[in-house]
Amino acid sequence: MDVANSVVLRHDQTRRTDRFEAASQLEGFPPAAAKFCAERALFGDIIGPAPRNRLNFLELREATDRYFRARVSGDSDDQLLADLLDALARTLRGANGTNGLDAATAHSVLRLIAMPDPERMKICRNCGWLFIDRSKNRSRAWCDMAVCGNRAKASRHYRRRKEEEAP
Ligand SMILES: [Zn+2]
Repeated sequence: MDVANSVVLRHDQTRRTDRFEAASQLEGFPPAAAKFCAERALFGDIIGPAPRNRLNFLELREATDRYFRARVSGDSDDQLLADLLDALARTLRGANGTNGLDAATAHSVLRLIAMPDPERMKICRNCGWLFIDRSKNRSRAWCDMAVCGNRAKASRHYRRRKEEEAP
């Protein structure tokens, strides 16, 4: 999920940023993710993807995002699933062992495909990231309350103030 989210503001053509644009960013991602990501425990001994596998890995990222985004929106599609499985197979074939980000991502995607409670996967209302809602009552609307939750609250507050001030 954290890999799929390496494209920030994916839905916004003018502001979207690809954190994996440069190969060096791919190398730096696992150590950073091991510190900051929600699923940080998964990144313990992970290193960057095998250089010859970078393209496969980036295709896997895109296929992952397309498939899960469609599934969360309620229009899961076997064609998108087939594309994702193709990308998974290519990535696994090109990986060097199991501790590369490429193989680790592929295994993580397989777990997500088969997750027992797929309704817990959601799209953040503020930034568009995919996230897993682990709250008890499954009511989270934002990937991160401290970041997107507060931002959404602040902009609601701002709009209300504007309306009050308007003549
Ligand atoms: Zn968010």
